[in-house]
Amino acid sequence: MPYDENNIFAKIIRSEIPCHRVYEDEAVLSFMDIMPRSPGHLLVIPKAPARNLLDIEPEVLATLIRQTQRIAKAAVAALGADGLTLQQFSEPAGGQEVFHIHFHVLPRWDGVRITPHPAPKGDMAELADQAAKIRAALG
Ligand code: AMP
Repeated sequence: MPYDENNIFAKIIRSEIPCHRVYEDEAVLSFMDIMPRSPGHLLVIPKAPARNLLDIEPEVLATLIRQTQRIAKAAVAALGADGLTLQQFSEPAGGQEVFHIHFHVLPRWDGVRITPHPAPKGDMAELADQAAKIRAALG
């Protein structure tokens, strides 16, 4: 399947729709997931178009995973999490719903389960507060 320039994350990259931004540079954008399955659930995406793990350029993937690690560490520290779950879904058969590659970073706490999919829409003030805390931890 070809990359769709009008997918929702492409629109977020072009600032056509808003997001709770955590980090941005020339290659990568990170923002809070709007339907968080754990407190602090965020997404990390490359700005370069790629549908998923099956078509992303290895060099773009290398930058993406490096930044994902950095942002995940900041999220765990900022929110006082005990650990994290990293997820990536490719194609509908793999559970993908938005067709611009993204890593899910889910901060986790001992004994606390992830909210099952589909999670309810998050509280916007809470998402903004978590994004601010993670941005501060990134320095
Ligand atoms: P998936 O493609 O299954 O890996 O999941 C797509 C994720 O994008 C879901 O967790 C959604 O909650 C999230 N999502 C969809 N639209 C937005 C949006 N506008 N802003 C932030 N997250 C979104």
